[in-house]
Amino acid sequence: MKITIFGTGYVGLVTGTCLADVGHEVLCMDVDAEKIARLEAGEIPIYEPGLEDMVKANVGEGRLRFTTDPATAVAFGTLQFIAVGTPPDEDGSADLQYVLAVAETIGRHMTDEKVVVDKSTVPVGTADRVRETITGVLAERGQNLDFEVCSNPEFLKEGAAIEDFTHGARIIVGTDSERVKALMRECYAPYIRLQEKLMFMDVRAAELTKYAANAMLATKISFMNEIANLAERLGADIEQVRRGIGSDPRIGYQFIYPGCGYGGSCFPKDVQALARTAGDVGYQAELLGAVEAVNQRQKGTLFSKLVRAFDGDLEGRTIGLWGLAFKPNTDDMRDAPSRTLMEALWAAGARVKAYDPEAMGECRRLYGDHKELELVEDRAEAVQGADALVICTEWKAFRSVDFAWLKAQLAMPVIVDGRNLFEPEAVKAHGLMYYAVGRGDSL
Ligand code: NAD
Repeated sequence: MKITIFGTGYVGLVTGTCLADVGHEVLCMDVDAEKIARLEAGEIPIYEPGLEDMVKANVGEGRLRFTTDPATAVAFGTLQFIAVGTPPDEDGSADLQYVLAVAETIGRHMTDEKVVVDKSTVPVGTADRVRETITGVLAERGQNLDFEVCSNPEFLKEGAAIEDFTHGARIIVGTDSERVKALMRECYAPYIRLQEKLMFMDVRAAELTKYAANAMLATKISFMNEIANLAERLGADIEQVRRGIGSDPRIGYQFIYPGCGYGGSCFPKDVQALARTAGDVGYQAELLGAVEAVNQRQKGTLFSKLVRAFDGDLEGRTIGLWGLAFKPNTDDMRDAPSRTLMEALWAAGARVKAYDPEAMGECRRLYGDHKELELVEDRAEAVQGADALVICTEWKAFRSVDFAWLKAQLAMPVIVDGRNLFEPEAVKAHGLMYYAVGRGDSL
């Protein structure tokens, strides 16, 4: 099949590469000429395990190509995937300008029948707006070409994007057209071993499914953080509680890890956008508002613990930071808890020495000029002479630590662990003060 993908971010590039890998001919288009030039030179602009080799292999085989030219992109694929960003607008709703710009491009350049596949996360009703935009542009051109718009939300996670795309729990397609169903079945056939994995539904249901899935996962995290905060104050250990509730198959172990709050490019914006959508139809989504509020508070928890550990005075202190990315196996720092912490520390007059296995470049881009930030080469350098260590991301490389060594590095024996990586007793046995999330010490 010939497939065009608009947008070469996490979703677009992974989608295009995986579809090329199973034999489709894929052309990826982006308005960012620098990104396309890098991709053409074999350089991957994002960190995603396994992606670089897969891109190179498929470019080498001639199945994956890149362009900045809209007319070429529209002419190429029978399927036209929209995988551009939908960042939050000022009021929290999803900003659809990039999605509608692609719709406009398709309408402007199409000369034969197309199926437009909306893969970006977009509010209910967007497929109608995409259809109206294309119809409007075609009318301006005096053309009356057939096209269809379907919804195919993406559920991949950054850090495991290829695995999720190729072995996802389900593929959702919102459409009522038999022709679109047949084309989408053909597109995904190599990935469908179980027929029930491909779910067809109404367009609106597909659009809402994506938001509902992310909102449910965010709810699990905020719920667990709420219980962790309570456990801390009640002298109960949240890790024991987590195992206790996770063992119930109705609850399950996934997404019930307490921590320093969720971040990234999806949960924060999608929870807000869904709440906003609810407001637009006159419904007050109480739970979604609470999920968001609990998360905001949780992102401040590491700073609050440091303030209390240092009796309210962080002026002139140096804080060693392990982990900048919003989660492991990505370089993405969008809405990361590390940012909330660093910004609060700087406002309180503290310095930060930070290390992350993948996000150093991104941090340099965001805060490179900050005089109170030192980006260091490894985790050891981040703690040398620091007054405390804070862990923001649960990278594997941080899980095993010689605590005697760590104590010798730190000027003050304070660890604030936003990811509950260690057993408190094992850490404290080395004379370190250890403050995790929901693990007894109510700091
Ligand atoms: P991203 O910001 O990484 O990439 C978007 C890309 O689109 C950029 O390269 C940008 O230059 C390009 N672009 C913008 N306007 C364009 C246009 N008119 N034509 C062609 N390209 C254009 O975004 P992302 O993280 O890949 O997310 C894309 C969508 O998928 C969003 O709606 C997001 O909510 C959703 N999503 C993201 C994830 C994730 O983990 N990142 C997971 C599931 C769904």
